[in-house]
Amino acid sequence: MELHNIKGLGEKAQLSLNQLNIFSIEDLMSHYPYRYEFLNPRSVLLNDEKIVQVVNAVILSEPKVSYIRRNFNTLRFRVQVLNKEVQVSIFNRAFLKSNLTIGKEITLVGKYKEKTNSFVANDIKVKAILIPKITPMYHLTKGLKNSHFEKWIMEASRLSFSVIDKVPLAFQESYQFLSKREALMHLHFPKSAEEIRKAKVRLVYEELFEFMFQIMYLKNKETLALGLHRNFDSSSVYDFISRLPFALTEDQMQAVTDGLEDLKSEKRMNRLVLGDVGSGKTIVATILMYANVLSGYQSVLMAPTEILATQHYEKFLKMFDDCSIHIELLVGSMKKSEKKKVLERIQMGQVDMIIGTHALLVENVVFANLGLVVTDEQHRFGVNQRKMLQNKGYRSDVLYLSATPIPRTYALTIYGDMDTSMIRVKPNGRKEIITKVKNESELKEVLTAIYDEIKLGHQIYVVAPMIEETDNEELKNVNQLKEKFELAFRNKVKVSVLHGKMKGKEKDVIMNEYALGEVQILISTTVIEVGVDVKNATMMVIFNAERFGLATLHQLRGRVGRNNYQSYCYLISNQDTPRLKVLEESNDGFYISEKDFELRGQGDLFGVHQSGDMSFQLADLRRDYKILLQAKKDVLSFIESKDYLNSTYYLNLTQKIDFTN
Ligand code: ADP
Ligand code: MG
Repeated sequence: MELHNIKGLGEKAQLSLNQLNIFSIEDLMSHYPYRYEFLNPRSVLLNDEKIVQVVNAVILSEPKVSYIRRNFNTLRFRVQVLNKEVQVSIFNRAFLKSNLTIGKEITLVGKYKEKTNSFVANDIKVKAILIPKITPMYHLTKGLKNSHFEKWIMEASRLSFSVIDKVPLAFQESYQFLSKREALMHLHFPKSAEEIRKAKVRLVYEELFEFMFQIMYLKNKETLALGLHRNFDSSSVYDFISRLPFALTEDQMQAVTDGLEDLKSEKRMNRLVLGDVGSGKTIVATILMYANVLSGYQSVLMAPTEILATQHYEKFLKMFDDCSIHIELLVGSMKKSEKKKVLERIQMGQVDMIIGTHALLVENVVFANLGLVVTDEQHRFGVNQRKMLQNKGYRSDVLYLSATPIPRTYALTIYGDMDTSMIRVKPNGRKEIITKVKNESELKEVLTAIYDEIKLGHQIYVVAPMIEETDNEELKNVNQLKEKFELAFRNKVKVSVLHGKMKGKEKDVIMNEYALGEVQILISTTVIEVGVDVKNATMMVIFNAERFGLATLHQLRGRVGRNNYQSYCYLISNQDTPRLKVLEESNDGFYISEKDFELRGQGDLFGVHQSGDMSFQLADLRRDYKILLQAKKDVLSFIESKDYLNSTYYLNLTQKIDFTN
């Protein structure tokens, strides 16, 4: 139902609501409060300066406004509370003056100071609250007030808007859930905390049920999907493996075997290789890409950044220099004419392996015969991006690499639609990275440690969180840091800076110099976060470490320790955060992710939340994990029993999934 059906909701307000993605009454009703204000006023003041009190009072004097400067005023007046007469003050509410007339009963929220017998209010309700009141608080945008939402939603609730109840009836009954309509009413007009809780459980279950349905339906479909039928000479593959400069670890070998089987089978490969940073996922992908080429198809590898794509490309050139395999790079910053040539060669089938960034998606890439699609650091791409590439081939096999160290149990749920190969053990000879949390006052110690490493001929990464100057004194500007380091080492050490605002070419030049060992210290923002491999780097220094999630810090730390040298990580922070100690204790990404999950919730878990795949309105995977598991179980029986065929909503959903996959 359209928004203009609501009394008093004009065109301007509609535009504001559109800003919040609210286009219909149904949308408005699903704009859930993000929190509630519980007000239960007392009639007497307590002599406690520390607590926020809610009291009812009667106005005794006419309010006076004093302007301290522009946009900064105080409103003062006297009131009578049952047991006391006090002076009330509140900042920046001059506009309330006309509503505060002598003799009126109001509700005050704020703190009482006995010494001065004054009440510093942070909120005043001009209409006294007489019975306990729960006010839902809504996310707002320019031009909208919370009271607007209260009013409109009240109006809307009287209209016959439609509600899609996505919980199948059988489960609805067995859990004795509220109906969806009831749940919505309880969220918007709660009479008690218990009503809110009940409504939330039901709505969270619904969100997770729908989410798991999509995953499990896809999984079900994919186990049935036909792949390419192919033949290749396994002995050539094993030959290639034996010519590598190192022996594969057991886990790597298992992942390769899994993948080779997938390639040979009739089934379409849909595999995730999950392994901590530095566990050696790339080589697994490389081998499978080689096998795919041997079977007569093209392989493509998509990486999230140009630096990473280029690095992969260069390594591939080296690894395959004695095979007659044609490898090409395709990234956004390439010249048009250059790109055109590459695209032509790909389309003609003159290229066997293509390595690139999401330029692979935006450019008009037409593959001659795409057989295997590999997505590196898959969590950086959204489902749609991944699918887009996959759909460029006919029944092409799909392999994902991910270093997002998410807790195992969650991985099974979230990646429920894929087969998984885990690389748990890192290549032999790797030493644990020694990690220390330091205060900025201990910087000298860190500088000494840096210098010791440089004397050994090793290199250092330094991470500063931001490039721009900010008001925040604590933020270490990368350029400022550069000067600091140069000064400290009396210009005997070459320091370079890398940041997100640089052009691709500039970055590449600097990264190359660093990779070649011409630069000893590379200071950067988190652009080096992903996959870059400089074996000679042995120390990672991270400033303002408290600003990062543990998962991110662990990934950053994974840039060092890529050789047999002892490597180090310094986390510099002036805040005493026990969180950081987890990294001192452990080098195990999975353990760290469990801890991070415990301490921070799902927010950081998926890194920058860019994919949007995992955004829920009410659900929180950590808090609601039990509900998630239950929903998964229910979904499985819902699919197996084919009950979803009787549900219009889920039938439509499967058609949508079928269409995009
Ligand atoms: P990630 O899993 O983080 O993508 P990479 O694939 O970049 O890790 O591998 C990290 C480094 O380890 C690379 O330099 C790679 O050549 C090396 N490597 C991979 N497997 C082995 C192995 N079995 N033995 C020794 N070094 C290996
Ligand atoms: Mg990698």
